[in-house]
Amino acid sequence: MNDLIDHRIRGSWTSAGAGAAQLPERAVRWLDQRIGPIGPRVAAETESSVELPSPELPESARQALVEVVGLENVLVDGPARLARASGLSYLDLLRRRSRTAEFPVPDAVVLPADPEQVQAVVDVCARHDVGIVPFGGGTSVVGGVAALRGEKSSVIALDLVRLDRLVSVDKISRIAVLQAGVRGPDVEKLLAPHGFTLGHIPQSYERATIGGFAATRSAGQASSGYGRFEDMVTGVRLATPRGEWRLGVAPASAAGPDLRQLAIGSEGTLGVITEVALRVRPVPVVRRYEGYAIEGWDAGAEAMRTLAQHHALADITRLSDVDETGVSLALKGGVKTAALKRYLNARGVKHPCFLIVGWEGAARDVAVRRRETTRLLRAAGAVRVGKALGESWRHGRFSGPRQRDALMDQGICVETLETAAYWSDLDELRDNVRAALTASLGRAIVMCHISHAYETGASLYFTVITARDQADPVGQWQRAKSAACEAIAGLGTISHHHAVGVDHTPYLAAEIGKIGVEVLRAAKSAVDPTGILNPGKLV
Ligand SMILES: Cc1cc2nc3c(=O)[nH]c(=O)nc-3n(C[C@H](O)[C@H](O)[C@H](O)COP(=O)(O)OP(=O)(O)OC[C@H]3O[C@@H](n4cnc5c(N)ncnc54)[C@H](O)[C@@H]3O)c2cc1C
Repeated sequence: MNDLIDHRIRGSWTSAGAGAAQLPERAVRWLDQRIGPIGPRVAAETESSVELPSPELPESARQALVEVVGLENVLVDGPARLARASGLSYLDLLRRRSRTAEFPVPDAVVLPADPEQVQAVVDVCARHDVGIVPFGGGTSVVGGVAALRGEKSSVIALDLVRLDRLVSVDKISRIAVLQAGVRGPDVEKLLAPHGFTLGHIPQSYERATIGGFAATRSAGQASSGYGRFEDMVTGVRLATPRGEWRLGVAPASAAGPDLRQLAIGSEGTLGVITEVALRVRPVPVVRRYEGYAIEGWDAGAEAMRTLAQHHALADITRLSDVDETGVSLALKGGVKTAALKRYLNARGVKHPCFLIVGWEGAARDVAVRRRETTRLLRAAGAVRVGKALGESWRHGRFSGPRQRDALMDQGICVETLETAAYWSDLDELRDNVRAALTASLGRAIVMCHISHAYETGASLYFTVITARDQADPVGQWQRAKSAACEAIAGLGTISHHHAVGVDHTPYLAAEIGKIGVEVLRAAKSAVDPTGILNPGKLV
């Protein structure tokens, strides 16, 4: 567990020791030409030397928390508090690299062991009027774990890391109950002996937790096959200042609005999720990934729509635009890449968009579904590139955060943002967001992909790379992100899967309406009358 506590202290992915990415010289030169001049090179910090304010937690509250979880599980030392002070957005990482505590830090970190202790901690905080920020993997990129205290004079980070158990498996109904702190890889390790998989693999899989997935309505890379996280949830158990709240007794219900869906996506503002009951599936016998290329974005998006509307999406179906494909080809370089470009050119694909398709399941089922997907792709003009492209995507699927650390080391501004819209609005939305980002940032590479498609629409995921403004790096990204959010409002959702957190709160009312905000506030005051749960988030 010390590893888990330590790795967040430094605020970058690679400092977890999971293998730092090195940016090849060729890539640095290429970036310098495209968006340069870049630099100077800034090495990631190795240890934090940030001076923190003294903890404000009243002694009576600290004593009461110690009585619940034990002395060793109420941490007030600087590194432990700093480790839970923020998530992993570009701005979070940038602020940490600047070695100044320009962000709020919790007064203590509390580590309960089970749902009963979580409820007891919530009760103590309610009695002493202490704010609570639930902390899962700390991978929020929207300020979800920022240690805001709102009107409270003190706030704790409630770290769920010790809630790491598989509670039960109902083989007949195919439901597994997992505690909130179980991280992605451990979910699969716990389920495998029972012959099951969850199949929820977001890019933050290595660190993010069951509670975090539920609290943010996460979407994994295989959402076309396994569904979004909320599709998997059959039940949820929460600790609230009003007592324990359990939801979900049947696979479907007409007993009023589905309150499970109110709890999922509540981002720690309506309760601390302690357990989640999840639909699981048999471990796949076959996993098959391959790559296609298609001429230009319009044809690619049209192919995605066709697959979605014919129920022929592969479990993973992901379309990169020309820029994203171009960057991956440029960074790979070499003889094979040149040969691939010639091959595609000869087949009329002069502006390639890569399409990754992956199927998982029983052999016969995969064969049947693959036949239909590939038939429709060929009819749409897609050219098969082969298994190597699919496998190379699969092997590199978690490398994004490490590459981001490497790019930040080079003095580059790199961040992502996402949205979703109906098919009829998707192109306009993409054009507007790209235009807004480019107008704000000047020389920038703006890449986009679709990785979650539905019959009615799709998500758009943007990755932005530009030279860092050395004088005002924070303002540089804040202005660009605001411009992108303004472009999204009215055409798409402010978040398809990153959630609202702090960063998106100014845009929520435009999406759900004033009444919607009031409904959320009313729900909050019903479960959390004094507003101790995750102050300043969501509403
Ligand atoms: C590199 C990178 C890639 C990412 N890729 C994806 C992706 O592919 N798909 C995707 O959906 N998201 C992605 N994200 C965003 C993030 O990983 C998700 O939002 C994830 O669901 C958060 O899980 P977590 O356990 O880290 O939660 P945290 O970051 O710890 O918390 C997120 C929010 O949920 C609340 N919370 C956490 N646990 C609980 C709980 N038990 N009870 C109540 N509230 C709780 C927190 O207070 C906070 O508001 C990515 C993030 C990064 C940094």
